[in-house]
Amino acid sequence: MIDLRSDTITKPTQEMREAMANAIVGDDVFGEDPTVNKLEETAAELVGKESALFVASGTMGNQVAVLTHTERGNEVIVDTAAHIAKYEVGAPAMFAGVQLRLVDNLLLGNTIDKIKNAYREENIHFPVTRLVCLENTFNSGGGTIMPPEKMREAYQLARNLNLKLHLDGARIFNAAVACQCDVKEFTKCCDSVMFCLSKGLGAPVGSILAGDQEFIKKARKYRKAMGGGMRQAGILAAAGLVALKSIDRLAEDHSNARFLAEGLSQIKGIKVDLERVQTNMVYVEVDNAAAFVSELEKNGVKAIAVSSNAVRFVTSREVTREDIEKVIQIASRIAVTNK
Ligand SMILES: *Cc1c(COP(=O)(O)O)cnc(C)c1O
Repeated sequence: MIDLRSDTITKPTQEMREAMANAIVGDDVFGEDPTVNKLEETAAELVGKESALFVASGTMGNQVAVLTHTERGNEVIVDTAAHIAKYEVGAPAMFAGVQLRLVDNLLLGNTIDKIKNAYREENIHFPVTRLVCLENTFNSGGGTIMPPEKMREAYQLARNLNLKLHLDGARIFNAAVACQCDVKEFTKCCDSVMFCLSKGLGAPVGSILAGDQEFIKKARKYRKAMGGGMRQAGILAAAGLVALKSIDRLAEDHSNARFLAEGLSQIKGIKVDLERVQTNMVYVEVDNAAAFVSELEKNGVKAIAVSSNAVRFVTSREVTREDIEKVIQIASRIAVTNK
């Protein structure tokens, strides 16, 4: 099987498994796991924040951030198609008790105007707008990058409006590698950032939430409340430390995605917006996504139908250039058979 469903399918490397087996551990709830402490310090430094917290998943990182930044009844500005709004089980309502102000095209449109329009002035009828969440790269947008300049403007505006800005940076290193810039160009434009170790970076489990010291201290307590105090978590953090050494190889995933997109775009019956193929994702439009995905699967290729006419392919370390060549051949055969 060639699995292009997600970069979360990456399995730990031999180096990770060895690091895990040999990790020096302690009880992290007591702050005594040296490997977790090292991962948190390394991660904080990497994204230019004072402090960081190792969390079980990206969703946990985002939700602990929302909980830490807000009070019940506050409003959070977020793109309608953002992961936090679309794929996190309604957790902002469940845990933080906040209301999401869903904005269409917040991320791909004119972000500044959209934030200004969504922001609420003081009025007895209105909730207090407290937080803006951005997402970079933007998953539902096609793995698209919000350039650092745009993030900087959004952050400036958020500060002027007395809002906090959280960055869902599940794949922020994909953005940095694609732009060939330091990840801090992005992460300096937010109050908190979450990124995933368990996606393209290849760790089996875990994400990082980073921010200033006071924020992380509070977040650590909320993580505990959510059941995220993980004891000898150094076993997992050890793999995370290895994962952080493989940031540069994301470029390979990007080049494979580009190659796949260009190949698929040549096939009749498949539409690809090549401008949106900026990192490790390829979204294509077909007449019947479910039928297309099921035909692919019969031929040994896994992808995800994200709507009735859209299919998502994600490249990762588990997929080689030769695999991509095969996928293009298979897809063109299927497209022809369907005629
Ligand atoms: C995957 C993802 C998350 C959540 O990560 P999990 O570890 O799957 O909970 C959050 N945001 C974005 C944009 C993602 O793609």
